[in-house]
Amino acid sequence: DSRSADSTVDSVCPYCGVGCQLRYHIKDDEILFVEGRDGPSNHNRLCVKGRFGFDYPRHSSRLTVPLIRREGAPKGVDPDFDPAQPWSHFREATWEEALDRAAQGLVSLKNAHGPNALAGFGSAKCSNEEAWLFQKLVRTGFGSNHVDHCTRLCHASSVAALMECIGSGAVTASFMQAQQADVVILTGCNPAINHPVAATFFKQAAKQGTKLIVLDPRGQAMGAHAYRTLRFTPGSDVSLFNAMLNVIVTEELYDQAYIDAHTEGFEALKAHVWDMTPEIMADSCGVSADAIREVARLYATADNAMIFWGMGISQHTHGTDNARCLISLALACGHTGRPGTGLHPLRGQNNVQGASDAGLIPMVMPDYQPVSDAQVRSAFEELWNTPLDDKPGLTVVEIMEAVRDGTIKGMYIQGENPAMSDPDLDHARAALGTLEHLVVQDLFVTETAQFADIVLPASAWPEKDGTVTNTNRQVQLGRQAMPLPGQAKPDWWIIQEIAKRFGLPWDYSHPRDVFAEMKRGMPSLDHITWERLEREGSVTYPCLSDDGPGEDVVFSETFPTTTGRAKFSPTLPLPPDEPIDAEYPTVLTTGRQLEHWHTGSMTRRARVLDDLEPEAVASLAPGELRRLDMQPGDPISITTRRGNITLKTRVDTGMPEGMVFVPFCYAEAAVNLLTNPALDPYGKIPEFKYAACRVDKA
Ligand code: SF4
Repeated sequence: DSRSADSTVDSVCPYCGVGCQLRYHIKDDEILFVEGRDGPSNHNRLCVKGRFGFDYPRHSSRLTVPLIRREGAPKGVDPDFDPAQPWSHFREATWEEALDRAAQGLVSLKNAHGPNALAGFGSAKCSNEEAWLFQKLVRTGFGSNHVDHCTRLCHASSVAALMECIGSGAVTASFMQAQQADVVILTGCNPAINHPVAATFFKQAAKQGTKLIVLDPRGQAMGAHAYRTLRFTPGSDVSLFNAMLNVIVTEELYDQAYIDAHTEGFEALKAHVWDMTPEIMADSCGVSADAIREVARLYATADNAMIFWGMGISQHTHGTDNARCLISLALACGHTGRPGTGLHPLRGQNNVQGASDAGLIPMVMPDYQPVSDAQVRSAFEELWNTPLDDKPGLTVVEIMEAVRDGTIKGMYIQGENPAMSDPDLDHARAALGTLEHLVVQDLFVTETAQFADIVLPASAWPEKDGTVTNTNRQVQLGRQAMPLPGQAKPDWWIIQEIAKRFGLPWDYSHPRDVFAEMKRGMPSLDHITWERLEREGSVTYPCLSDDGPGEDVVFSETFPTTTGRAKFSPTLPLPPDEPIDAEYPTVLTTGRQLEHWHTGSMTRRARVLDDLEPEAVASLAPGELRRLDMQPGDPISITTRRGNITLKTRVDTGMPEGMVFVPFCYAEAAVNLLTNPALDPYGKIPEFKYAACRVDKA
């Protein structure tokens, strides 16, 4: 009831990359309810998470004091561990003691073994300012570039392809541009579930006549709005896209004027795809040649067309190749740089774009400036007054490998939960257990915190000021709406205290000080100031003037590559790393649900969301259940070469036969115990979307 609220505070949703603007209604320092505001990406709309996902800041298991592990307490994920009562494993500490112990452990490992003995995972759940400070601490305090975050599990392959082909990892146009497009391809994404408010823009576009083409192995909610749906064989993405390119090349549907003016390498691409006809590729793709020809023609002959993709594209060992193909489609047809055209990898986490921009990436400094570039390094060395390492750091999964082989001995993990989110969890958890010193900063004693030596109570998004950047490149301001509980502290403050204990002379008094420093190292923030964001709430980068809204569509004249031209990057179909066989005949794929967010630490503590989706389920096609002689709700056992979980079944008519889908938010049936850690060689992203498994009655 809005009449009983004490106050309202304007902010941004902490969940997905859509970045919906919202208004908290506050009573007695608690969030009474939330409503949508008229932000550029949501027009007053919110999905169920944005509306009902705010019990977590005041949840009874919220961490409110610093913790130090008790001598001899076992490390590991214990199903009986109660995060609200962690006292069997941890004791309460003062901030002074916890910070001293946290920093001393890291410093002494660095002194004994060198900078490469330490690594840090930052978080896309935190603000841009916190991401900036975290990577700055690792680079200037730890002394290496071993810093990464969940982009590595999400769109790293998309970014690798975009950087290679068009010189920029961000989207070329916002999702609002779909309403200007004649044709929109949605592939490997399920926006109605994962980007629900973006999905409303696609549905509105379809209502106004935009032809939606859904390319996905699974049937899905957007299919109901689609002009055409192609449900192709899991893992055959490159074959499908090359066949579409073949149609565009052999039927001369490409835009020669655009290609001549803006690209290089088209002749090689033409030769490369010449023999990959739809007729040849149809079998492996599991769709007809005619259907491939039709969608290729629809996309190529549209006046304006866009491609959106998600983790169905990126989370493969050929994820970078998948994205290269999509970029080639857009370049061949001249579908970038104008309203209603573009390439848009839909970002997962609310600030994964911003955290990446701010430098939580091991091979690049903020704004994707290579650490190996002497000029880049020298500019940051001058800004930070510290020498920097010239070697690219290790990525998320590589860091865990280095932990396992004993090279990395100490870690600082802020707001990430690799004990739930990494592939092949038994191995990842075993590695966490071998760390000599682990500092975890979070809201709860998560599965990862159960391995920590020190746990630092951090800030929930409604408890702090900060900026975040959504999938559309819109930089937006979140404001503090409620006080921190107990002794919990803002993340930026905690990182600064650790930095001081590394001898770094940091003296920030508010996130706006950090933002001011970011502007000195990040040209992408030109013309965007904290004061503007306080006034306007949202500014898109790149922004070309002090009062303009920023560029919704980019690269109309030139690309930010060395030649100013975009590049075609031909690709060859590759099989999944672990093809199905007689022993493991079913494809396991993982992802999210509408109601739950990533590893579930926030949404599973929201009463309404937990009421809606209370327990772990595996989705199977009706025919698959019949084959197993099972009913929906029966227990099922899923086994891969790496492990086994048991959970309930759910019938899903959108699932293809021969595939099972499991969300990764359920600790009691952690599907990442089963997933394949094999990496895409370019983006270093694991193959979450395809593992060979066996499904049995439990
Ligand atoms: Fe939040 Fe995304 Fe839902 Fe918007 S669509 S309310 S940003 S979770």
